[in-house]
Amino acid sequence: RAKADGRGCFRFFEPEMDADVRQQREFEFQLREAMVRQEFELHFQPIVELATFRPCAVEALVRWRHPERGLVPPDKFIPVAEEIGLIIPLGEWILDAACRVAAAWPSHIRLAVNLSAVQFRSGNLVEVVRGAIAASGLTPNRLELEITESVLLQKDQGTLAVLHELAALGVHIVLDDFGTGYSSLSYLQLFPFSKIKIDRSFVSELSSRSDCAAIVCTVMNLAKALDMTTTAEGVETWDQVALLRAAGCSEAQGWLFGRPGFASALSLDRALGPPPDVSIAAPS
Ligand code: C2E
Ligand code: MG
Ligand code: MG
Ligand code: MG
Repeated sequence: RAKADGRGCFRFFEPEMDADVRQQREFEFQLREAMVRQEFELHFQPIVELATFRPCAVEALVRWRHPERGLVPPDKFIPVAEEIGLIIPLGEWILDAACRVAAAWPSHIRLAVNLSAVQFRSGNLVEVVRGAIAASGLTPNRLELEITESVLLQKDQGTLAVLHELAALGVHIVLDDFGTGYSSLSYLQLFPFSKIKIDRSFVSELSSRSDCAAIVCTVMNLAKALDMTTTAEGVETWDQVALLRAAGCSEAQGWLFGRPGFASALSLDRALGPPPDVSIAAPS
């Protein structure tokens, strides 16, 4: 029911609506209000170069500072924002705000921003990206736009054309959460990505499951052959770091190097290598 309503037709609260639907409507209402009240905020997580452990990029991750619920994670509200179309103005705000913050970072630090599949159907994504770059003064090649396979599921010409227009602006297109969707390999051919982010689910079992290590190694080799760099998501231990370096992974992101936090808390100037009592072999 809720789905059908989301597609543009309007429905009022009715007495016979069940509690679930009512709750859903209330949540949607509050989400729209949140945009007006500016209750969204960006948190930032560092990404390090595995050869040097120096920060090389930062991912912007949106949160909702809810007056009663506290900090709401994106998994809880992005799908709803997509259903009600709010992701369009929200996504525009995210790009704009993140680019402004990143413009103050050292110039070798790139900014990664997540895009929703819905933004690709908006008709003005390229203009929005161009606008955010112009307003912030960020050099386009410092911007990485992260998309998931869901964007490519709409295998239409429109999506591909938008991807090419974005690439023509000089920004990088990154394939996020790699390995979790369908027919991943054909997507790699469909568009020239700069980078693949291998999903956390493979990284978290890296030390305990040899099949995950095999998958990670295969993805790294594939990326190298296709001239793409790689980022491992969800890195939490030095064991994982050692295996990732051995596998030839270029970059890592995870709680080991820093949790998402306020921009002011980022330390981008020093290497985030292992403490003195942990020794790790040099990368292959
Ligand atoms: P993602 O783009 O794959 O982002 C990485 C997620 O992994 C983040 O979750 C991050 O906090 C989490 N993470 C990072 N390191 C670790 C770790 O070591 N261990 C564990 N357990 N988790 C780690 P978060 O911030 O909750 O975001 C979840 C998803 O929501 C994102 O996945 C992305 O798909 C979406 N999202 C976040 N911000 C935005 C945004 O601004 N726009 C859009 N469209 N989607 C967003
Ligand atoms: Mg991402
Ligand atoms: Mg991801
Ligand atoms: Mg993910």
